[in-house]
Amino acid sequence: MTKAAILKALEKKVLICKKCALHKKRKHAVFGSGSFSSKIMIIGESPGTREDLLGKPFVGKAGEILNECLKKANLKKDQIFITNLVKCHPLKNRDPKIYEIEMCTKNYLDRQIDLIKPKIIITLGRFATKYLFKKFNLSFSKISKCHGKSFEITINKKPLKIISMYHPAYALYNPKIKKIIEKDFKKLKNL
Ligand code: SF4
Repeated sequence: MTKAAILKALEKKVLICKKCALHKKRKHAVFGSGSFSSKIMIIGESPGTREDLLGKPFVGKAGEILNECLKKANLKKDQIFITNLVKCHPLKNRDPKIYEIEMCTKNYLDRQIDLIKPKIIITLGRFATKYLFKKFNLSFSKISKCHGKSFEITINKKPLKIISMYHPAYALYNPKIKKIIEKDFKKLKNL
């Protein structure tokens, strides 16, 4: 099977997944979107209300901010693969629970990373950053300490850069954070 075929099969599993309680209230699971051969993966926290409704990642207000940031980095959405730590919307945008993160990442996100093999992973927000830093043995304390910095590691003898950013949803009511996110995204031009 080709990489695309394996990822398509994985997507089918996500769309009908019932491995954690989040499936009970979702309208649509959100697998992710973009190119399967992308060198950049963006990983957020979980689908919001609009994403749940449409089955696509980052299509709400936070997605608008992400689009602005991508423009500042001269990146187009179809050049990257965008997904979330958990694929189903937690009601009232509550934080995902530990067992939901474990269940979803071990079954889906880890596979997506293994198959897509990005050269750069951008994590948005505390939850995705904490998970990815732990996965790749990096030490994490706070987003405020590591945002915008590039951490280079080696996986299967290939370099991988991990860069964390504040989550765009955090910028919705905080113009200072929006400026920081834009500045961090602009740095991607140099990579
Ligand atoms: S959040 Fe992940 S593990 Fe839980 S039901 Fe949705 S796809 Fe399955």
